[in-house]
Amino acid sequence: MNSEQPIVLVTGGNKGIGRATVERLASDGAKVILTSRSLERASEVAESVSGGNGFSVIPMQLDQSDPESVSDLMRLIFSKFGKIDGLVLNAGIHTASRIGMISEDALENLWQTNAAGVLRLIQSGIKLLRKGSNPSIVIMGSVMSSSGVIGQSAYAMSKAAISGLLVPASRELASLGIRVNMIAPGYVDTEMVNDLEANQREEVLRRTPLGRFAFPGEIAALVSFLLSSESSFITGQEIRIDGGLRD
Ligand code: NDP
Repeated sequence: MNSEQPIVLVTGGNKGIGRATVERLASDGAKVILTSRSLERASEVAESVSGGNGFSVIPMQLDQSDPESVSDLMRLIFSKFGKIDGLVLNAGIHTASRIGMISEDALENLWQTNAAGVLRLIQSGIKLLRKGSNPSIVIMGSVMSSSGVIGQSAYAMSKAAISGLLVPASRELASLGIRVNMIAPGYVDTEMVNDLEANQREEVLRRTPLGRFAFPGEIAALVSFLLSSESSFITGQEIRIDGGLRD
């Protein structure tokens, strides 16, 4: 991070990987805007992260499946701060169903949230990032996009869509000085993996040489690096962080 306090937007910053990222970036010295679909949830977390630490954490509302909500958020940030230096596209949803059981509603929601919503946020974030310094975008992908398992077809498809977005976006935005990278976590200990059955957990651990799920803070550490000037020559990369997970 540079000497002027950087401003970073973290989508879905109220729990799991997003919350750990908010905590990490705030302790790195950034002013962090965190979003949830509920302003109340975002406010509670912002208060709890900043309380007593002197950290600067600002709660805002965002439903990235709704184009108007995305533009409202960016307009609000522009009017308050005029720029952002980092954009962490973390928010996402997960559903597990075999192909025959995937409903139209679930498919539409996954697509709008995990894929189209990410593109929308990049589109409307460009204006703010151009005013930032060392501007950097970090997208939260998943190992599922290249090595999905049974029951994950729709989720894997939505994550593969943003893997496809990574390289062309990094090429287009390089001329504006904006870097774009993706983190592809394996299994991370958050609410998202709560619905795994005991035998599925055992199977994941068997396939993971490091023998455990990731801690959210381990993903946050990589986000911090990818936003920092230490990574100033890295763009267009998808970096797996998965304890060596094998297919
Ligand atoms: P959580 O379910 O713990 O958190 C998801 C976050 O996304 C919440 O803050 C939620 O906020 C937000 N969110 C959900 N829908 C929307 C929406 N329509 N608009 C805006 N925000 C939304 O997930 P994790 O922390 O586990 O996952 C974070 C990211 O990492 C996701 O993209 C996920 O796909 C990815 N990932 C997770 C892995 C894991 O094992 N946990 C593995 C690989 C990738 P709220 O509900 O308050 O609106």
